[in-house]
Amino acid sequence: MLVDSHCHLDFPELNADLAGVLSRMHDNGVTHALTISTTLETFPAVRAVAHAHANVWCSAGVHPDERRDGREATLDELVAMARDPRVVAVGETGLDYYRVEGDAEWQRERFRTHIRAARELGKPLVIHTRAAAEDTLRVMREESAAEVGGVMHCFTEAWEVAEGAMELGFHISFSGIVTFKNAKDLKEVARRVPLERMLVETDSPYLAPVPHRGKPNQPAFVRHVAEEIAALRGIAFEDVARATTDNFFGLFRHARPA
Ligand SMILES: [Zn+2]
Ligand SMILES: [Zn+2]
Repeated sequence: MLVDSHCHLDFPELNADLAGVLSRMHDNGVTHALTISTTLETFPAVRAVAHAHANVWCSAGVHPDERRDGREATLDELVAMARDPRVVAVGETGLDYYRVEGDAEWQRERFRTHIRAARELGKPLVIHTRAAAEDTLRVMREESAAEVGGVMHCFTEAWEVAEGAMELGFHISFSGIVTFKNAKDLKEVARRVPLERMLVETDSPYLAPVPHRGKPNQPAFVRHVAEEIAALRGIAFEDVARATTDNFFGLFRHARPA
């Protein structure tokens, strides 16, 4: 049993053959997935996938990089979206300064609104951070994100950032990046994060793990992420699978395994 804690099943690369994607999950022992919302515009499609499949849940939120909605989601709007029973998390939200030019105050405001929505509903957060670790942790503290907890998804930051997030009660999720040969520092973080705080994900259709690197990614490949973590820690694959699955259902407590 394995859970892909972060994928984008509404993206055309996966949605075009959703039946195939789900059957390859099944064939690889990936029993459940969390499909992640990135825009207001596409949320209905994300939600529809989760309503159509008992082993798929979804999140509600707007990605920090996304500007295609043309306006900001209000707190009331996010709360209404995330109230849906198939929505088990708020996000993906966070900060991404990688592509931002100039003042990113709009991103920090958007992030704060998501944390407030999560707290209003008591649903955990899915947090994306890139080139913005310090501000991400600062906003999480200022907005009492610890009250709902959540996950730092597709983690690529230094150990100190993992530590800071775990102090706030957050989980750390590793993607296919941990299988890349040049990801030495990240492999070290994956050795150190306590097993009871760890999740695995694909972030598919992006970031396919070795041995599929450069090809389109899919939830079935989360197996390679768990295998790499088991090898790094010198423990059995089954132990990583069991721990990360238990952690998933412990954290996303609105998700009930079918
Ligand atoms: Zn992300
Ligand atoms: Zn994502």
